[in-house]
This record gives sequence, structure tokens and C-alpha cells, in this order.
Amino acid sequence: MPQVGSRSVANGAKWALSIRARLLILAAISLLPLVLDRFRDIESDRVERIETITQQALDFAKQGTAAQNEVIVAARAVLQVAASAYGMVAADPAVCASFLTNTKRQAPWFRSLSVANRDGRIICSTNAPSIGRDVSATSHFQQAVITGEFTLGGYYTGPQIGSVVATAVPHLTADDTLDAVLLGPIQLDWFGRIASALARRSGAVVMMFDGTGTVLARYPASDQWVGQSLRDHATLREMLARTEGNFTGNDIDGVRRIFGFAQLPGVHARLAVGFEESTVLAGARRAIWVAFGQLGFIVALMMIAIWFGGERLILEPIRTLTRAAQRYGRGENGARADTTPWAAEFVPLAAALDDMAGQLAAREQELRASNAHLQELANVDALTDLANRRTFDTRLTAEWRTALKYRQSVAILMIDVDHFKLFNDRYGHVRGDRCLKQLSEAIVASTRTNAATAGPELAMPPSYRASEREPDFAARYGGEEFVVLLRGATLGTATEAAERLRRSVEELRLEHDAAPCGFVTISVGVASLVPAEGEDPQRLTESADAALYAAKHLGRNAVACEPETALSRAG
Ligand code: GH3
Ligand code: MG
Ligand code: MG
Repeated sequence: MPQVGSRSVANGAKWALSIRARLLILAAISLLPLVLDRFRDIESDRVERIETITQQALDFAKQGTAAQNEVIVAARAVLQVAASAYGMVAADPAVCASFLTNTKRQAPWFRSLSVANRDGRIICSTNAPSIGRDVSATSHFQQAVITGEFTLGGYYTGPQIGSVVATAVPHLTADDTLDAVLLGPIQLDWFGRIASALARRSGAVVMMFDGTGTVLARYPASDQWVGQSLRDHATLREMLARTEGNFTGNDIDGVRRIFGFAQLPGVHARLAVGFEESTVLAGARRAIWVAFGQLGFIVALMMIAIWFGGERLILEPIRTLTRAAQRYGRGENGARADTTPWAAEFVPLAAALDDMAGQLAAREQELRASNAHLQELANVDALTDLANRRTFDTRLTAEWRTALKYRQSVAILMIDVDHFKLFNDRYGHVRGDRCLKQLSEAIVASTRTNAATAGPELAMPPSYRASEREPDFAARYGGEEFVVLLRGATLGTATEAAERLRRSVEELRLEHDAAPCGFVTISVGVASLVPAEGEDPQRLTESADAALYAAKHLGRNAVACEPETALSRAG
């Protein structure tokens, strides 16, 4: 399982971040500006949405007031024309009624057309049931009487009349005295048009309220709110304080809305259009989630790319190098790290590893050579190049075991140079050493010892098969004493070999003035045994030693074997 962080193998204590974790952190850092930029986008998108909706609300409110203005201008013209013509029809109520009906037909936005006399009582109307009604208390009637001009009254709402705004124009006689007042409440059709335009938007409201905070019209839920006086409502107060603008606050139904509002022409009333803030922000929230989704997707893609790309491009090469280093560690110096097409940064490392492997191989070679040399030093006698005593003991043990196993005999010849102390005294140690060397060569020559292979062969373990070794094995036993091991030799054949050896030395005729015979001689003690279970090979050397002792007693330059029987002696 790939690790994100791990403990350092080297010191076992320090916590180290994995390369992939580092790459992920780098990627996260490099993604940060993108994330911040995205957030800025989202925020500006949110602000933009709110601005757009705020502007839309105001536009709707202004559209409403513009529509209202148009109707009022047209209504004023029609009423003024009708007022000036009224004098001709005033005398007959029936003519008056048909005159008003004809006029209304040309101006369909009038809910009705009526004429009130000076006292405010309706005397003629397109709406017959209202004849006789007293309108003297209405503000528009009074204003028209006082100013003598077109007057826009309040807004009225009722189940029968719907939402209307009252208008009035006085009719003056030729001498400018007030004769009657024409009344024409205008239907607020445009309000319905705005309402239906907003109906498609959930949470949108359109509302009209007069200067006292009384709701004149509202969509939707008209029945619930129309006629209610909400003078103290903060939102209405805020909108009444200015002629037009925007305001965001709690609507009269408690829902927080973004309002655009404008004053209706000629009156204190306000038209307000509001959009539910949470609906607007829901769009922005959706945009945020989409942005988060996109970001998450990019991050996920990046992480996957880093995870697998990091594996392929960085970790795999590192693992390959690690494996190469481990192979070197195991001593496979033939291994090479430089076959992979490395990333530029790994090339020096791979080269360094290969270099190290090459040096390790060279060192190992040197080590092997010096080990072999040391082994040789440990096993071989430096002066004579024969095996030393230690090697002889090992070899004797091996031969003893083989002989025990195959029930063969094993023999040794223990050789001591006669009067060698005198030789040293007479010729010095250097000549003495040379003499020992010559004697060793004579021993090798007259036995079946192979001096050339003695070194490597000596390194063989005791289990080494006897048949593969030389049958005879010579060693320098100590000072001027030598020993020859003869595999399978009986006492007889061993003694014959000893005698051959003694003679060959004798025949060298190495000068030795201090010796009785005038040249160097040797004495040889022979012993041969078929090893028995539980016996020690030391028995054989002790026997040969005793025989040598006997040979010396026989007068030297002699061969003796155990038991003390002199088989031959030089004359
Ligand atoms: P013997 O006939 O009884 O053996 O008389 P010997 O003089 O040989 O007596 P012994 O064995 O006691 O003397 C051994 C001498 O061999 C003593 C020493 O000076 C000499 N010797 C031992 N090792 C070396 C060596 O490595 N080089 C030299 N030059 N002489 C050695
Ligand atoms: Mg000696
Ligand atoms: Mg001696």
C-alpha cells in the first residue's frame, strides 16, 4: 500500500512526508489562486444577481407609474372635453346619461362616469345605482371645487369596483361659477398587467399603498391585505420616505424581499414590486454548488493524475534505484541501474549507484585476493612453501576420518634434520634457512606431494573427498622438523618411502662440516595405523615421534618405526 507519510527507516524516529503527499501539497498550493478566483467569481455573480433583480424591481415599479401616468393624462383630456360639453346636456338627465355613456365608450379605462352637482350629489351617471349618492366629503370632489381644475383623488378598492383612482374636473358656467363636477374613477388595469407579468416568478409581489400606509392593491393575496392600514410597518415607512428607489427588508407578510418602488403621479401613493431574497440567493447558491462541483472535479482529476503519474514518473524510478541499491547491498555487483530512461535528476544518482557498484566489485575482488593471501599465510609455511603445522593437523584429522570410514591405514613420516644446531652455528641462519628450503624440495620430490597445488588444496574442508587429494602430504612441522602424511600406506610402504627420502637427502650431499659424516642428513620416524573408533590421530604423531627418537638413538641418518625397529641405517 503506498504511504502518504512514513517514519524514516534510517533514524527510525523522524516522520517524513512521502513524495506523493508533497506533490499533493504543491498541487493544493498551486490550485489555491484558482479556488480564490472562483470564489471571487461566485461572490461577484451573487452581487450581480442581486443588482439585476433590484434594478428589475425598480423598472417594474417605474413601468407601473408610467402606465398610470399615461392613463391619467388621457383621462384628464377626456374629462376636460366632457366637462366643457356638459353644459349642452345638463338640462336633461337622460341626454346627460347617454352623453356620459358615449364618452366612456371612447375611454374604456374609466370605471364609470358621473356628474355631481355643486352640493356633491350625483345627478347623472353611467352607473345608475350611484345616482343620488353624496360625494361631497371626498377629497377629489373638494379639491376640484376649490381649485377649479382637474384633480386626482385617492385610490379606492372594493369588491365591486376593484382598484380605482378617483379623478374629478369641475364644470364652470360662462361666468366661471361652479355648476357641476365630472367624476371619473379610473380602473387600475395596468396593475393587473404588472401582476400577471410577475405571476411567473415565485415569491414576487406587487403592492400599492397610499400616503397613509393603507394597502390599496396587492398581488397575490389581495383579499388578505387590501384596506389594511400599516402606517407603522418599517418597510412601508421606508418606501414612503422617498419618491422612488430600492429597499430590502421584511415585507408585510414577513418574507424578506428586495423592493423597487416609485411614487404614483399626482398622489402620495407608492407602487412597490418585490422579489423574494431567498429565491434570488437560491440561484446564487446553485451557482456556488456548481462551482464547487467543478472545482472538486478538477481537484479529483489532479489528485488522480498526481497519484498515478507520481507513481509512474517518480516513485517507480526511485523504487528501481532502490532495488538496484538493494541488489548491490546483497552483493550482486553485476546489477546495473543505468538501463532505464531516467528523469534528468535521477541520471547522476543512477550513475553514482553504478559507480558505487563498480567500486564495490573492485573492493570485493581485492578483498577476495587479500583473503586468499591471508589464508595462504595462515596455512602455508613462508620459508619452505609447504603446509604449516596447523594445516597438517587439519589434514591429518580429515585423513584419519576417511581412513576410519574406509578401514584404511594412514601413515606419517616424522623427519628431523641431524645436528642442525651445529649447521647454524657453523654456517649461520641464512644458510640454515636455505638448507631447510632445499630439504623441503627434496621431500616434495621424493614423495607424491604436489607442492604447486598445496596452497589452494589446503583450503579445502576436511570433508573434501580423499580420492581427489594427493596421496602424500608434506608439511613443515616446526623448526627443522618436517612431516609427511601417506594415505593408505602400511608400515612397510611408509618405511620404504622414508628410506627413499633419507637417501635422497643424503645424495644431495649438502655440506655440513660439523656433522660426523660431513654432509646434511635426516632421521625419520615412521608410524602407520588403521584408525579404530574412539582413537585420536595424535596417537599416530606420538608414535612417529617416538620412532624418530629411536632413529636418533640409532645414530642419526636413520629410519626407525614403531615399535623401535631400525629398518635401515646408513653405513
Ligand atoms: P639432533 O641431531 O639431535 O636433532 O641435533 P640438532 O642440533 O638438530 O638438535 P635440535 O633439534 O635440538 O636443534 C634444532 C636446531 O634447529 C635449533 C635451531 O638453531 C635450528 N633451527 C630451528 N628452526 C630453524 C630455522 O627456521 N632456521 C634455521 N636456520 N635454523 C633453525
Ligand atoms: Mg629438532
Ligand atoms: Mg635436529
